[in-house]
Amino acid sequence: MSRIYNFNPGPATLPLPVLEKAASELVEYRGKGMSILEMSHRSPEYSQVHQEATRLLKKLLGIPDNFKLLFLGGGATLQFCMVPLNLLHSDQSCDLVLSGTWAQKAWADAKKIGKVNLVYDGEPDNYASLPDPGGLKLDPSAAYLHMTSNETIGGIQWHSWPETGGVPIACDMSSDILSRRLPLEKFGIIYAGAQKNLGPSGVCVVVIRDDVLENCDQNLPAYLSYRAHAGKDSLYNTPPVFAVYLMKLVLEWVDENGGIEVAEKRADERSGLLYEAIDDSGGFYKSPVPKKNRSKMNIVFRLPTEDLEKRFIAEAAAEGLGGLKGHRSVGGCRASMYNAMPIEGAKALSGFMREFARKNG
Ligand code: PMP
Repeated sequence: MSRIYNFNPGPATLPLPVLEKAASELVEYRGKGMSILEMSHRSPEYSQVHQEATRLLKKLLGIPDNFKLLFLGGGATLQFCMVPLNLLHSDQSCDLVLSGTWAQKAWADAKKIGKVNLVYDGEPDNYASLPDPGGLKLDPSAAYLHMTSNETIGGIQWHSWPETGGVPIACDMSSDILSRRLPLEKFGIIYAGAQKNLGPSGVCVVVIRDDVLENCDQNLPAYLSYRAHAGKDSLYNTPPVFAVYLMKLVLEWVDENGGIEVAEKRADERSGLLYEAIDDSGGFYKSPVPKKNRSKMNIVFRLPTEDLEKRFIAEAAAEGLGGLKGHRSVGGCRASMYNAMPIEGAKALSGFMREFARKNG
């Protein structure tokens, strides 16, 4: 077996012990004569997995009792319409920060459903930076403020949160959930596709505050209604059982490895190694992102020419450092490093970057 350091943006690398455990339990789950994939989602075995995933995520994120945790299908993309369908009533508007590709998608869906005020438009700046949270002109009567905590393609991340005066923040945390501690009281709803920091694709985690849930539209088709899912503990319909099971294994692994404090320290360390390699390169590598907005999850950078970028990506792959191509919409290079990326992976990549710059600079 030769596993590489995989810098894919998502689906992304998973902890090896998790894959090994899943493999060992795959064909027959704990003496039950069948795999977890083949069991009823109402069986005691799956119920235990579902409850344990909920318990661990609540524990690791420090979610207070006045929040519900949901496991839904449809990816984070479904949440782009579910949030406004549930929370944006016809006599209201919401505020939205247009920070990049993912915020743009959330905006596109929300404006089909209700009135959306852009409180920041990053397009003229190519979505390379974020506004000062204190400088946002927020509507005190908005239904919510939508933010994207980490733009996976642009490599920009919020490091502090706006004061909203009680307006709940609705936040897409797909690419940085569980990588740092959060002031949860500021958030009315958080959603995150699992395939970066939490596990495999196929399950989207939604964390919703009770008062926000109470205020959700009551006339929605069942699957689109947070109330329907919350009322049935995310078992309104067949949940993505295998994705929840794998997520549970990842959460156990995070818990055994020191929880969110350690995850946060490791994200600082990994991203620090790469940003130092960029900043020490005398301009060979360029980060388009101002230091205060740099993402600790997705490190984007350019080389002097596209030819050099192609060679960089190919030579890195030959050294067992994969997934470094930037998103097709922006080009360049991107290293995505979520919780499961070992520090050794970041060290190997920063060493390779320094050597490549020395040879080609
Ligand atoms: N939001 C962000 C920040 C993302 O990075 C992604 C996927 N890369 C999405 C939303 C969409 O997620 P999904 O593919 O799970 O619908």
